[in-house]
Amino acid sequence: MTSPAETTPPADDDGGTFAALGLRPELLSVLTGLGYEEPTPIQREAVPPLIEGRDLQGQAATGTGKTAAYALPVLQRLPAGRTERDPAALVLVPTRELAIQVAEAFYRYGRGLGTRVVPVYGGQPIGRQLRALDGGVDVVVATPGRALDHLQRSTLRLGGLTTVVLDEADEMLDMGFAEDLEAILDETPAERQTVMFSATMPRRLDALARRYLRDPVRLAIARERPASGEGPLVRQTAYVVPRASKPAALGRVLDLEAPTAAIVFCRTREEVNSLSETLNARGYRAEALHGGLSQEQRDRVMGRLRAGTAELLVATDVAARGLDIDQLTHVVNYDVPAAAETYVHRIGRVGRAGREGTAITLVEPRGHRMLKTIEHVTGSRISVEKLPTVADLRARRLELTRAALRESLLEDELDRFRAVVDALTDEFDVVDVALAAVKLAHEASAPAGDDEDIPDVPLRSGPDRSDRDRGGSPRSGADPRGRGAGGRPRSGAGMARLFIGLGRSAGVRPGDLVGAITGEAGLNGRDVGGIEISERFSLVEVPETSAADVIAALRQATIKGRRPTVKRDQAGGSDAPAQGRPDRGDDRPPRD
Ligand code: AMP
Repeated sequence: MTSPAETTPPADDDGGTFAALGLRPELLSVLTGLGYEEPTPIQREAVPPLIEGRDLQGQAATGTGKTAAYALPVLQRLPAGRTERDPAALVLVPTRELAIQVAEAFYRYGRGLGTRVVPVYGGQPIGRQLRALDGGVDVVVATPGRALDHLQRSTLRLGGLTTVVLDEADEMLDMGFAEDLEAILDETPAERQTVMFSATMPRRLDALARRYLRDPVRLAIARERPASGEGPLVRQTAYVVPRASKPAALGRVLDLEAPTAAIVFCRTREEVNSLSETLNARGYRAEALHGGLSQEQRDRVMGRLRAGTAELLVATDVAARGLDIDQLTHVVNYDVPAAAETYVHRIGRVGRAGREGTAITLVEPRGHRMLKTIEHVTGSRISVEKLPTVADLRARRLELTRAALRESLLEDELDRFRAVVDALTDEFDVVDVALAAVKLAHEASAPAGDDEDIPDVPLRSGPDRSDRDRGGSPRSGADPRGRGAGGRPRSGAGMARLFIGLGRSAGVRPGDLVGAITGEAGLNGRDVGGIEISERFSLVEVPETSAADVIAALRQATIKGRRPTVKRDQAGGSDAPAQGRPDRGDDRPPRD
């Protein structure tokens, strides 16, 4: 890697910082702790008017940072040390999975403020929710059916609300929640702030917006295409990879592509640090670059790149700004970026001056919407390809070794090795000597760890239905990793699916299962595949080769104080263990 032009850190006074948005210090320090370096475009535009108390109608898909865009202002506006029992903010979301995610986001961002957050969704015993609501709450995140149920029982009182958020409003309408939404909104104070986010803006939303939003700020993702011919000469490829398999997938892609120099973009500092550690452990020479580094540390990183002792730069957008790296051949998006503009900036770093470059994006199965938006904005196609297989990789490595040997034969001064060859040919055939030399050369250059199984998963088309709340179906876990289109963890090649007889009703969360598997069976967290948690049981994927050990270890373990049944899951779908109502995508609790 050669001659980065400059190493100045990005300016902090450009109005593009979280501080410039007017957020309070407790929130700023949480964001710094999370490694968020700068607001995403939707956050930059939405946060100031929302802090002012304006209503807002925003178009933003999952992956744009929309949750923080409304959660931060809600938290900002909560009175310090609030002790009232009834909520100040209500967030309505279409699915239980999203309810859990959003509640977790509020909890994470509101940690410094001691914010009380309660998720309320169908499928969870109502008693637990009653107790949580009764104990006093600042923010309720609810699916409409269950919210209405609590309203009718008077266990949810909305008279003290200052803000209502409708998240994924289009999805809620699609799921037939229009009347429920109206019934809920009609119970809220007229002077409340109302915020509506939606990935699409169908006309059906207009009636709702007209009735409940007052003079809203309207925000949408920019749709302009760059003028034709402006786009760089960049081959754009995406690979669909479950989150847990991303490090292995990245290694495989890097091996196949063999970049001269590459930048791998991550969203947060934490991700930059952990990914560069992982890559180094896998034998790549990767350097971490993020806004938390001092100028001296940055200089050192850039020095190593210039000297060629590092080949990969793992960076956040902020830290990589202003770097101009000659001979950069590849840009890798470890996640789909939060804004199409960011994607355009990133890939603009390759394909300069008529040179060809490659942009690679690792997309999680539910990231199709952002990918589509990016294609729309850039006016170019991103081809979704299958990950290279281990066999592809081996063939490619042999090809690289062959090319390196050929180069050496053409260019190097080889005479000083002649004595070695002469000595060996006394004893061995010259071809065998060559074969041994090729083997050593090949092994010396091939990074380790290419044999890891990576499940082959499809990109989900249509709306983000993975979040759909399906009564008690096994789709309802809190962890989106590695789902197949059928809603069950997908058994990728080499993965075994285990049934664990404890579920949400026992308080089990994905972290408990990963913790038990890594702690008791000695697996690495990375090895754990898709996880589904439903009411009474969970399904977890582990590598086939470790399945027996994991089963034995978990049978001896306690999870949430209980010793679960653990066995291989035999179900292909129809014979799954007890399930709830599978049809209408709502969250209505049983009324009995
Ligand atoms: P969302 O679009 O709300 O689903 O957020 C997508 C992901 O982006 C989540 O994992 C957030 O934690 C993350 N995120 C949100 N805002 C930022 C930011 N400003 N910088 C880095 N990551 C962010």
